Amino acid sequence: MVNELHGLDLSGYSVSRSLKTTLRELPPYAALEDVEFLATELGISPSSVIKVDGNENPYGPSDATLRALESLNRIKLHHYGDSDQRRLRLAIAEHLSVGFDSVICGNGSDELIDLMFRLFINEGDNIVISSPTFGMYSFDASLHGANVIDVPLSEGWEFDEESLEKAARDAKLVFIPSPNNPTGNTIPMRLVRKLLETGAVVVIDEAYIEFSKTASLATWVEKIPNLVVLRTFSKWGGLAGLRIGYGIMHPELVSICLQAKQPYNISVVAEAAALAALADSATLDARAEIISAERDRMSTELAKTEWMVPWPSDASFVLFRLDGISGLGLRDKLRLEGIFTRYIAHPRLEDHLRISIATPDANDRIIEAIREIEPE
Ligand code: PMP
Repeated sequence: MVNELHGLDLSGYSVSRSLKTTLRELPPYAALEDVEFLATELGISPSSVIKVDGNENPYGPSDATLRALESLNRIKLHHYGDSDQRRLRLAIAEHLSVGFDSVICGNGSDELIDLMFRLFINEGDNIVISSPTFGMYSFDASLHGANVIDVPLSEGWEFDEESLEKAARDAKLVFIPSPNNPTGNTIPMRLVRKLLETGAVVVIDEAYIEFSKTASLATWVEKIPNLVVLRTFSKWGGLAGLRIGYGIMHPELVSICLQAKQPYNISVVAEAAALAALADSATLDARAEIISAERDRMSTELAKTEWMVPWPSDASFVLFRLDGISGLGLRDKLRLEGIFTRYIAHPRLEDHLRISIATPDANDRIIEAIREIEPE
């Protein structure tokens, strides 16, 4: 080896010189910290941690899903899966009462967000978001050379409808999560209609819709060619670690996605788990109801501290405004108690903390730990 490299001097070479020009700098994405590494660093046992930083489902997969995973040896792991995702698309279509040809699955809905950029964005094209919102849209925008037109939410996290509509007229893609992460509110139907009328492709990200009383827009897609509805098994299905999400969109766009996606983007393991989750949807719906009720209880209980003010939430988390303590300050105090919450580094959220909803027992522990804290 040493001999084969003799005289080859690439010491002045940096591979970054060859990076594509749209990638002026590598964008940051504030991913979750790994629970085991973080707990070990803090000197606490990972198994005692209450993990409420990632909006994951506190119950995990349903028993039926786990049984399906336990019988994995009956799945042909040595074969590639179905690149057309037919079994899973059919099961999702039945679950949502939409057409089979309106459904496409992704390696997490994250992959489908990236796919939208790959399909629609040329360097310099605009995308529209309303901050504070899910960070993946801006991250992907940087990777793909898109300009982000941010139409910030108002003081009370309301949408600035007029400015959004105006910005959308000049954009290829609009990304709105409904409920929004991290503020928890949903988009009014009239605004979706206005945005669709601009002709931009409107992506309504319904990652948390199962925890909301608002109806999904999934059934609109057959008539509306520029609407993309994204959903995921990460929250409702308790399968965040398996990476499986899906999109509902016009059949013409589904065909394009099927052609452009990586052929085997859904692992056979994720497919088996997602099919089992759909077959056991009653259990998962019941859990979502408990989580929603717990969300309301957590909001009420923590509001009694008087220094935590919950924003109304339709999702599986609550964003709290804090008085007398910063978001980072409270996050760090709770970390020492083994409670991992999410501080979002955004100029308007320095005095905020997002807490995902856990099981009732764990929520009690969180309430107790917070009651012990004295803000300055
Ligand atoms: N959309 C929103 C609004 C989210 O909050 C998340 C997860 N944090 C995702 C999409 C990503 O979901 P998935 O795990 O399916 O990639």
